[in-house]
Amino acid sequence: MSEAGSPTAEPGREGPPAPVAAAAAPPEGTRPAAVELRGVTKIYHAGTPREAVAIRDVSFTIPDLPDRGEICTFLGPSGCGKSTVLRMVAGLAPQFPPTSGSVHVLGREVIGPGADRGMVFQDYTSFDNRTVLANVTFGLECEGVPRHRREVEGREWIERVGLDPTRDALKYPHELSGGMRQRVAIARTLALKPRIILMDEPFGALDPATRLDMQDLLVRLWREVEATVLFVTHSVEEAVYLGDRVFVMATTPGRIASDLRMPAADGPARETQIEPWFHEQVNKLQAELERIEAAAARPDGTRGR
Ligand code: ADP
Repeated sequence: MSEAGSPTAEPGREGPPAPVAAAAAPPEGTRPAAVELRGVTKIYHAGTPREAVAIRDVSFTIPDLPDRGEICTFLGPSGCGKSTVLRMVAGLAPQFPPTSGSVHVLGREVIGPGADRGMVFQDYTSFDNRTVLANVTFGLECEGVPRHRREVEGREWIERVGLDPTRDALKYPHELSGGMRQRVAIARTLALKPRIILMDEPFGALDPATRLDMQDLLVRLWREVEATVLFVTHSVEEAVYLGDRVFVMATTPGRIASDLRMPAADGPARETQIEPWFHEQVNKLQAELERIEAAAARPDGTRGR
Protein backbone atom coordinates (compact mmCIF):
# COMPACT_ATOMS: atom_id res chain seq x y z
CA MET A 1 0.00 0.00 0.00
CA SER A 2 1.31 3.47 -0.78
CA GLU A 3 1.64 6.05 1.98
CA ALA A 4 -1.26 7.99 0.47
CA GLY A 5 -3.46 4.99 1.07
CA SER A 6 -2.14 4.15 4.47
CA PRO A 7 -3.97 5.23 7.62
CA THR A 8 -0.90 7.26 8.55
CA ALA A 9 -1.14 9.34 5.35
CA GLU A 10 -1.17 13.09 5.85
CA PRO A 11 -3.33 14.78 3.22
CA GLY A 12 -1.37 17.32 1.25
CA ARG A 13 1.96 15.86 2.31
CA GLU A 14 3.77 13.89 -0.32
CA GLY A 15 5.88 10.95 0.73
CA PRO A 16 7.73 8.00 -0.72
CA PRO A 17 5.89 4.70 -1.15
CA ALA A 18 5.63 3.08 2.23
CA PRO A 19 7.02 -0.36 2.83
CA VAL A 20 5.03 -2.68 5.05
CA ALA A 21 6.40 -3.95 8.34
CA ALA A 22 8.91 -6.77 8.05
CA ALA A 23 7.67 -10.20 8.98
CA ALA A 24 9.08 -11.82 12.11
CA ALA A 25 7.20 -14.77 13.52
CA PRO A 26 6.48 -14.40 17.27
CA PRO A 27 7.61 -17.25 19.53
CA GLU A 28 4.91 -19.88 19.77
CA GLY A 29 2.40 -19.53 22.60
CA THR A 30 3.13 -15.86 23.29
CA ARG A 31 1.17 -12.89 22.15
CA PRO A 32 3.47 -10.19 20.76
CA ALA A 33 3.26 -6.77 22.38
CA ALA A 34 1.12 -4.18 20.60
CA VAL A 35 4.01 -1.70 20.71
CA GLU A 36 7.52 -2.13 21.99
CA LEU A 37 10.35 0.42 21.93
CA ARG A 38 13.78 -0.83 22.95
CA GLY A 39 16.49 1.70 23.74
CA VAL A 40 15.27 4.19 21.15
CA THR A 41 17.40 7.30 20.66
CA LYS A 42 16.80 9.96 18.03
CA ILE A 43 19.50 12.49 17.28
CA TYR A 44 18.83 15.05 14.57
CA HIS A 45 21.71 16.43 12.50
CA ALA A 46 24.10 14.02 14.25
CA GLY A 47 27.77 14.96 14.00
CA THR A 48 27.02 18.55 12.93
CA PRO A 49 26.96 21.77 14.97
CA ARG A 50 23.13 21.52 14.84
CA GLU A 51 23.12 18.12 16.58
CA ALA A 52 20.01 17.78 18.78
CA VAL A 53 19.02 14.79 20.91
CA ALA A 54 15.23 14.53 20.69
CA ILE A 55 14.84 11.36 22.79
CA ARG A 56 17.38 9.14 24.50
CA ASP A 57 17.12 5.48 25.39
CA VAL A 58 13.31 5.29 25.42
CA SER A 59 11.99 1.82 26.19
CA PHE A 60 8.47 0.64 26.94
CA THR A 61 6.16 -2.24 26.17
CA ILE A 62 2.42 -1.91 25.63
CA PRO A 63 0.83 -5.37 25.69
CA ASP A 64 -1.76 -6.40 23.13
CA LEU A 65 -4.73 -6.96 25.42
CA PRO A 66 -7.14 -9.42 23.81
CA ASP A 67 -10.62 -8.07 22.98
CA ARG A 68 -9.91 -4.84 24.82
CA GLY A 69 -6.81 -2.85 23.92
CA GLU A 70 -5.57 -0.06 26.11
CA ILE A 71 -5.33 3.72 25.94
CA CYS A 72 -1.84 4.99 26.76
CA THR A 73 -1.41 8.73 27.05
CA PHE A 74 1.90 10.58 26.65
CA LEU A 75 2.15 13.74 28.70
CA GLY A 76 5.02 16.19 29.06
CA PRO A 77 6.29 19.68 28.37
CA SER A 78 6.80 20.93 24.82
CA GLY A 79 9.87 19.48 23.18
CA CYS A 80 10.16 16.36 25.40
CA GLY A 81 9.73 14.09 22.39
CA LYS A 82 6.05 13.05 22.56
CA SER A 83 5.50 13.47 18.82
CA THR A 84 8.85 11.88 18.09
CA VAL A 85 7.78 8.73 19.97
CA LEU A 86 4.38 8.63 18.24
CA ARG A 87 5.71 9.20 14.74
CA MET A 88 8.44 6.67 15.42
CA VAL A 89 5.71 4.08 16.04
CA ALA A 90 3.92 5.30 12.89
CA GLY A 91 7.13 4.82 10.91
CA LEU A 92 6.99 8.41 9.64
CA ALA A 93 10.12 10.35 8.62
CA PRO A 94 12.04 12.32 9.74
CA GLN A 95 11.38 10.98 13.26
CA PHE A 96 11.67 7.43 11.91
CA PRO A 97 14.06 5.64 11.72
CA PRO A 98 15.67 5.89 15.16
CA THR A 99 19.36 6.73 15.42
CA SER A 100 19.65 3.62 17.58
CA GLY A 101 17.28 1.11 19.15
CA SER A 102 14.28 -0.65 17.65
CA VAL A 103 10.53 -0.22 17.30
CA HIS A 104 8.24 -3.27 17.12
CA VAL A 105 4.50 -3.30 16.45
CA LEU A 106 2.53 -6.51 16.94
CA GLY A 107 5.75 -8.52 16.92
CA ARG A 108 7.18 -7.04 13.73
CA GLU A 109 9.99 -4.57 13.41
CA VAL A 110 8.66 -1.28 12.04
CA ILE A 111 10.29 -0.31 8.77
CA GLY A 112 7.75 2.34 7.68
CA PRO A 113 4.02 3.14 7.80
CA GLY A 114 1.62 0.21 7.63
CA ALA A 115 -2.07 -0.66 7.63
CA ASP A 116 -1.85 -1.97 11.22
CA ARG A 117 -1.44 1.65 12.42
CA GLY A 118 -3.72 4.67 11.89
CA MET A 119 -2.87 8.23 12.83
CA VAL A 120 -4.96 11.29 13.72
CA PHE A 121 -3.13 14.63 13.75
CA GLN A 122 -3.88 17.88 15.57
CA ASP A 123 -4.27 20.02 12.46
CA TYR A 124 -7.48 19.08 10.73
CA THR A 125 -6.01 16.94 7.99
CA SER A 126 -8.92 16.61 5.61
CA PHE A 127 -8.65 16.59 1.86
CA ASP A 128 -10.26 19.96 1.16
CA ASN A 129 -11.51 19.05 -2.30
CA ARG A 130 -13.28 15.91 -1.10
CA THR A 131 -16.65 15.68 0.61
CA VAL A 132 -16.95 14.28 4.13
CA LEU A 133 -17.95 10.90 2.66
CA ALA A 134 -15.06 10.91 0.19
CA ASN A 135 -12.68 11.83 3.00
CA VAL A 136 -13.95 9.03 5.24
CA THR A 137 -13.78 6.46 2.43
CA PHE A 138 -10.39 7.63 1.13
CA GLY A 139 -8.39 4.79 2.66
CA LEU A 140 -10.98 2.20 1.63
CA GLU A 141 -10.77 3.54 -1.94
CA CYS A 142 -6.97 3.16 -1.85
CA GLU A 143 -7.46 -0.40 -0.65
CA GLY A 144 -9.65 -1.11 -3.70
CA VAL A 145 -12.92 -1.60 -1.77
CA PRO A 146 -15.77 -1.40 -4.35
CA ARG A 147 -17.64 1.93 -4.41
CA HIS A 148 -21.01 0.72 -3.11
CA ARG A 149 -19.46 -1.12 -0.15
CA ARG A 150 -17.16 1.72 0.80
CA GLU A 151 -20.00 4.23 0.67
CA VAL A 152 -22.17 2.06 2.92
CA GLU A 153 -19.28 1.63 5.36
CA GLY A 154 -18.39 5.33 5.08
CA ARG A 155 -21.92 6.41 6.01
CA GLU A 156 -21.89 4.01 8.96
CA TRP A 157 -18.65 5.58 10.19
CA ILE A 158 -20.03 9.08 9.71
CA GLU A 159 -22.91 8.13 11.98
CA ARG A 160 -20.68 6.40 14.54
CA VAL A 161 -18.58 9.54 15.02
CA GLY A 162 -21.73 11.56 15.68
CA LEU A 163 -22.21 13.25 12.29
CA ASP A 164 -25.37 13.05 10.21
CA PRO A 165 -24.91 10.69 7.24
CA THR A 166 -27.62 12.50 5.26
CA ARG A 167 -26.91 16.11 6.10
CA ASP A 168 -23.13 16.03 6.54
CA ALA A 169 -21.89 13.36 4.09
CA LEU A 170 -21.78 15.67 1.07
CA LYS A 171 -20.41 18.73 2.84
CA TYR A 172 -16.85 19.90 2.23
CA PRO A 173 -14.34 20.36 5.10
CA HIS A 174 -14.56 24.18 4.97
CA GLU A 175 -18.26 23.88 5.86
CA LEU A 176 -17.43 22.05 9.14
CA SER A 177 -16.40 23.20 12.63
CA GLY A 178 -13.06 22.06 14.10
CA GLY A 179 -14.78 19.37 16.17
CA MET A 180 -16.63 18.05 13.12
CA ARG A 181 -13.43 17.95 11.10
CA GLN A 182 -11.73 15.89 13.81
CA ARG A 183 -14.72 13.54 13.77
CA VAL A 184 -14.12 13.10 10.02
CA ALA A 185 -10.40 12.44 10.62
CA ILE A 186 -11.25 9.85 13.29
CA ALA A 187 -13.81 8.17 11.01
CA ARG A 188 -11.32 8.07 8.13
CA THR A 189 -8.73 6.43 10.38
CA LEU A 190 -11.04 3.93 12.09
CA ALA A 191 -12.74 2.89 8.82
CA LEU A 192 -9.52 1.05 8.02
CA LYS A 193 -9.71 -0.92 11.29
CA PRO A 194 -6.12 -0.37 12.43
CA ARG A 195 -5.07 -2.37 15.51
CA ILE A 196 -2.98 0.57 16.75
CA ILE A 197 -4.39 4.12 16.75
CA LEU A 198 -1.89 6.97 17.10
CA MET A 199 -3.31 10.35 18.09
CA ASP A 200 -1.08 13.44 18.22
CA GLU A 201 -2.92 16.09 20.29
CA PRO A 202 -6.06 15.51 18.23
CA PHE A 203 -8.23 17.67 20.50
CA GLY A 204 -5.60 20.33 21.26
CA ALA A 205 -7.18 23.00 19.08
CA LEU A 206 -10.77 22.47 20.22
CA ASP A 207 -12.72 24.55 22.73
CA PRO A 208 -13.06 22.96 26.21
CA ALA A 209 -16.68 21.78 25.80
CA THR A 210 -16.05 20.20 22.38
CA ARG A 211 -12.92 18.62 23.81
CA LEU A 212 -14.92 16.82 26.51
CA ASP A 213 -17.42 15.61 23.89
CA MET A 214 -14.56 14.28 21.79
CA GLN A 215 -13.04 12.51 24.80
CA ASP A 216 -16.37 10.75 25.36
CA LEU A 217 -16.54 9.86 21.68
CA LEU A 218 -13.03 8.41 21.73
CA VAL A 219 -13.73 6.21 24.77
CA ARG A 220 -16.98 4.96 23.21
CA LEU A 221 -15.35 4.15 19.86
CA TRP A 222 -12.33 2.59 21.54
CA ARG A 223 -14.64 0.15 23.36
CA GLU A 224 -16.16 -0.80 20.00
CA VAL A 225 -12.94 -1.21 18.03
CA GLU A 226 -10.88 -2.77 20.87
CA ALA A 227 -7.66 -1.20 19.57
CA THR A 228 -4.53 -0.03 21.35
CA VAL A 229 -4.42 3.77 21.43
CA LEU A 230 -1.30 5.93 21.91
CA PHE A 231 -2.50 9.46 22.64
CA VAL A 232 -0.24 12.53 22.96
CA THR A 233 -1.55 15.46 24.98
CA HIS A 234 -0.47 18.59 26.82
CA SER A 235 -3.51 18.40 29.07
CA VAL A 236 -3.08 16.65 32.42
CA GLU A 237 -6.88 16.21 32.71
CA GLU A 238 -7.06 14.58 29.30
CA ALA A 239 -4.11 12.29 30.09
CA VAL A 240 -5.71 11.13 33.35
CA TYR A 241 -9.24 10.74 31.97
CA LEU A 242 -8.32 8.85 28.81
CA GLY A 243 -5.27 6.97 30.00
CA ASP A 244 -5.34 3.44 31.36
CA ARG A 245 -1.66 4.19 31.56
CA VAL A 246 0.11 7.56 31.51
CA PHE A 247 3.69 7.96 30.32
CA VAL A 248 5.09 11.19 31.75
CA MET A 249 7.97 12.47 29.66
CA ALA A 250 10.82 14.79 30.63
CA THR A 251 13.15 16.96 28.56
CA THR A 252 16.85 17.31 27.86
CA PRO A 253 17.04 14.70 26.69
CA GLY A 254 13.48 13.52 25.98
CA ARG A 255 12.80 10.42 28.05
CA ILE A 256 10.12 8.55 29.96
CA ALA A 257 10.12 9.90 33.54
CA SER A 258 7.23 7.78 34.88
CA ASP A 259 4.87 5.10 33.72
CA LEU A 260 1.66 5.17 35.77
CA ARG A 261 -1.53 3.10 35.85
CA MET A 262 -4.82 5.02 36.00
CA PRO A 263 -8.38 3.91 36.72
CA ALA A 264 -10.24 3.16 33.49
CA ALA A 265 -12.49 5.89 32.10
CA ASP A 266 -15.86 4.32 32.83
CA GLY A 267 -18.08 7.40 33.16
CA PRO A 268 -18.68 10.45 30.97
CA ALA A 269 -15.82 13.01 30.90
CA ARG A 270 -17.85 15.79 32.54
CA GLU A 271 -18.86 13.60 35.50
CA THR A 272 -15.54 11.82 35.97
CA GLN A 273 -13.51 15.01 35.85
CA ILE A 274 -15.17 16.45 38.94
CA GLU A 275 -14.62 13.36 41.11
CA PRO A 276 -12.15 13.62 44.05
CA TRP A 277 -9.90 10.76 42.86
CA PHE A 278 -9.60 12.50 39.53
CA HIS A 279 -8.44 15.78 41.09
CA GLU A 280 -5.98 13.88 43.26
CA GLN A 281 -4.38 12.22 40.21
CA VAL A 282 -4.32 15.50 38.27
CA ASN A 283 -2.62 17.30 41.18
CA LYS A 284 -0.03 14.54 41.51
CA LEU A 285 0.83 14.65 37.82
CA GLN A 286 0.80 18.45 37.77
CA ALA A 287 3.37 18.46 40.60
CA GLU A 288 5.53 15.98 38.70
CA LEU A 289 5.40 18.14 35.57
CA GLU A 290 6.38 21.19 37.60
CA ARG A 291 9.39 19.27 38.95
CA ILE A 292 10.34 18.25 35.40
CA GLU A 293 10.07 21.82 34.13
CA ALA A 294 12.06 23.18 37.08
CA ALA A 295 14.82 20.61 36.46
CA ALA A 296 14.93 21.52 32.78
CA ALA A 297 15.31 25.19 33.71
CA ARG A 298 18.36 24.50 35.91
CA PRO A 299 21.59 25.06 33.98
CA ASP A 300 22.99 21.62 34.83
CA GLY A 301 19.64 19.87 34.20
CA THR A 302 19.81 18.10 37.60
CA ARG A 303 16.55 16.94 39.12
CA GLY A 304 17.23 18.40 42.57
CA ARG A 305 15.29 17.32 45.62
P1 ADP B 1 6.94 17.30 21.70
O1 ADP B 1 5.99 16.55 20.81
O2 ADP B 1 7.03 16.72 23.06
O3 ADP B 1 6.67 18.78 21.75
P2 ADP B 1 8.89 16.71 19.63
O4 ADP B 1 8.89 15.24 19.53
O5 ADP B 1 8.13 17.45 18.59
O6 ADP B 1 8.43 17.14 21.09
O7 ADP B 1 10.39 17.25 19.60
C1 ADP B 1 11.41 16.75 20.48
C2 ADP B 1 12.69 17.54 20.23
O8 ADP B 1 13.20 17.24 18.94
C3 ADP B 1 12.51 19.04 20.29
O9 ADP B 1 13.64 19.60 20.90
C4 ADP B 1 12.45 19.44 18.84
O10 ADP B 1 12.94 20.76 18.65
C5 ADP B 1 13.36 18.42 18.18
N1 ADP B 1 12.97 18.13 16.79
C6 ADP B 1 11.78 17.63 16.39
N2 ADP B 1 11.78 17.47 15.04
C7 ADP B 1 13.00 17.90 14.60
C8 ADP B 1 13.62 17.99 13.31
N3 ADP B 1 12.98 17.57 12.22
N4 ADP B 1 14.88 18.48 13.26
C9 ADP B 1 15.53 18.87 14.37
N5 ADP B 1 15.01 18.80 15.62
C10 ADP B 1 13.76 18.33 15.74
